[in-house]
Amino acid sequence: MDELLEDAARRAKLYVSAIAERRVTPLPDAVGRLRELGGALPLDPTDPLAVLALLDEFGSPATMATTGPRYFGFVTGGVLPASLAANWLAGAWDQIAGLQVMSPVAAAIEEIALEWLLGIFGLPPSCGAGFVTGATMANFTALAAARHALLKRAGWDVEEDGLFGAPPLKVVVGAEVHVTVLKALGLLGLGRARISTVDADAQGRMRADALPAMDERTIVCIQAGNVNTGAFDPAQEICARARDAGAWVHVDGAFGLWAAADPERAHLMTGVASADSWATDCHKWLNVPYDSGLALVRDASSLQAAMAVTAAYLQTSPDRQPFHFTPESSRRARGIEIWAALRSLGRRGLAEMINRNCRQAQRFAEGLREAGYEVLNEVALNQVLVSFGAAERTRKVIEGVQQEGTCWCGGTVWHGRAAMRISVSSWATSEQDVERSLAAILKVALQ
Ligand SMILES: *Cc1c(COP(=O)(O)O)cnc(C)c1O
Repeated sequence: MDELLEDAARRAKLYVSAIAERRVTPLPDAVGRLRELGGALPLDPTDPLAVLALLDEFGSPATMATTGPRYFGFVTGGVLPASLAANWLAGAWDQIAGLQVMSPVAAAIEEIALEWLLGIFGLPPSCGAGFVTGATMANFTALAAARHALLKRAGWDVEEDGLFGAPPLKVVVGAEVHVTVLKALGLLGLGRARISTVDADAQGRMRADALPAMDERTIVCIQAGNVNTGAFDPAQEICARARDAGAWVHVDGAFGLWAAADPERAHLMTGVASADSWATDCHKWLNVPYDSGLALVRDASSLQAAMAVTAAYLQTSPDRQPFHFTPESSRRARGIEIWAALRSLGRRGLAEMINRNCRQAQRFAEGLREAGYEVLNEVALNQVLVSFGAAERTRKVIEGVQQEGTCWCGGTVWHGRAAMRISVSSWATSEQDVERSLAAILKVALQ
């Protein structure tokens, strides 16, 4: 075991130390060689050292360098040193985070991390929370709590009696709703198409003046951080109107919620804290290892009612049982890496990381505009949308940038226009990385 773990550490160190200079996308050759990991499953055991050597030889060159400093695809966080190291140690612990009695350490660290997280987001300490895989499951989990609460108010027990014959719920989303919210609504039996869609403005913000009539059986799904523009829905106005109507407001804040940590960006969050539930990711802007998301619900009892299991042998104590707040029962102890990330950054370090990424996004926008390209969004957060002209031309540039390998940016379509999307979400990105990436993008665009 000693030799194996030391070998793993040595190999990981080599990988980490080379990542900043490696091309971001793996070469097609390296991807092709992944076949070497397959073939028929051997009959006899293999020495773990040899297994690790195989994985490193063929796996490491075929990774996407998402932990490197120049990956700007989707909205992808890197991995903070403290959270990577904690992930290793926690891997050795192999704790089950379902019940207190299964792992007191996992349960306690989760509670500590939760207290810190709620403080960062400006949410009440009494919120219920589920540590889930990502914002998709966080949307699902929080919306399950909403479904429970609204139907209970209507005299219906949805966990016991299901949705057949239940009083209908009305769901309102913005025109720019993230697809994972629709997926969650589908999973919950609320339907992907049985929804009212509210017009959005040029930045993708839901238009509060276009909200339909709401009542105590309405769930309104708003966004803190549009996945393309980074824009925030007008939460204050929407939450006030929803409160008057008795409706439930759910916020998809997969990365946007972290704006709360940066005093210069916290104003974007105005009104968000008065919603009823929130979904966010820790594997995006907090830069913890995948996978890690968070479902937060103001009324903890609704979340617990939607998620709790009732088998007698699982009722062990009156303490907070983590799996009464998540769809999963057995799961890994995600709170550990969150704790380590926050403990190493501190409030100020977190604020600086968020602020730095936003300034870096502004620098990208400025550099691209100076070169004569059109930036399609107001860069208020960490997202930049740029057009290089006609759709065909823009797609060519995106492909060229990805192949060139200095950095990686994805493509999107924004209000009918093809665009390259730059998302700056990593602790590892320096000012030099931004300049180097800008130069590489402009060189490809000029070809
Ligand atoms: C990334 C994202 C999601 C989905 O998050 P996963 O972590 O991939 O499940 C949902 N909503 C928004 C706004 C996002 O940016």
